[in-house]
Amino acid sequence: MRVILIGPPGAGKGTQSERIMAEYPLAHISTGDILRENVKNGTELGKSAKSFMDAGKLVPDDVIIRMMKERLAKDDARKGFLLDGFPRTTPQAEALGTLLKELSLPLDAVLLLEISDDEVVNRLCNRRVCSSCGAIYNALSHPPKKDRVCDECGGEVTQRDDDKETVIRSRLSVYHEQTSPLISYYDGKGLLHRVGAAGAPDTALLYIETMKLGV
Ligand code: AMP
Repeated sequence: MRVILIGPPGAGKGTQSERIMAEYPLAHISTGDILRENVKNGTELGKSAKSFMDAGKLVPDDVIIRMMKERLAKDDARKGFLLDGFPRTTPQAEALGTLLKELSLPLDAVLLLEISDDEVVNRLCNRRVCSSCGAIYNALSHPPKKDRVCDECGGEVTQRDDDKETVIRSRLSVYHEQTSPLISYYDGKGLLHRVGAAGAPDTALLYIETMKLGV
């Protein structure tokens, strides 16, 4: 099964991915996670990406496309993947199409997580993340049991630098300008499916189950 999750920041791509991964043995490939790992480890890629990420802007296409060519060529991706946060621009989608054609790995579906901008701002201002294992919390509706300590691994639970309101607004306008054209791009290919993302965190998983894609 080869699926892309598209949606604005805060639509719950990470949380929905966790639910899907609990049921299907797919490679979960999140460009945001790969970039944050590189920033944390101080790699050249991390150093060049950090200023874009902190400003809520997209990292340049050539950097992302190079990174994803390497990632998708790995063995685990051949068995099926869930792309989370990629592609985010039309050139990225076109490069992905070419690459998957070369690898003979056609896409099965693109799930669009739909949610309003107000709900996104509300969610992201309260989002907290474990800096060790990536577990996701909400300061109001789902805080860690012990203040700032991860329930799963004991790591430190913090707010992402780009989850501040001004940066969130900037990430939303980037989404509307640069990523939303992918909706008609994939709709035109007959791959787009719309999934409500304002409520439960497993709507994408339920949708996949109804599609009976197989693994
Ligand atoms: P995310 O965790 O998916 O919200 O990504 C966090 C940040 O990483 C984004 O705001 C961008 O700066 C960068 N990023 C992640 N994926 C991409 C992508 N496909 N293209 C460009 N920048 C990206």
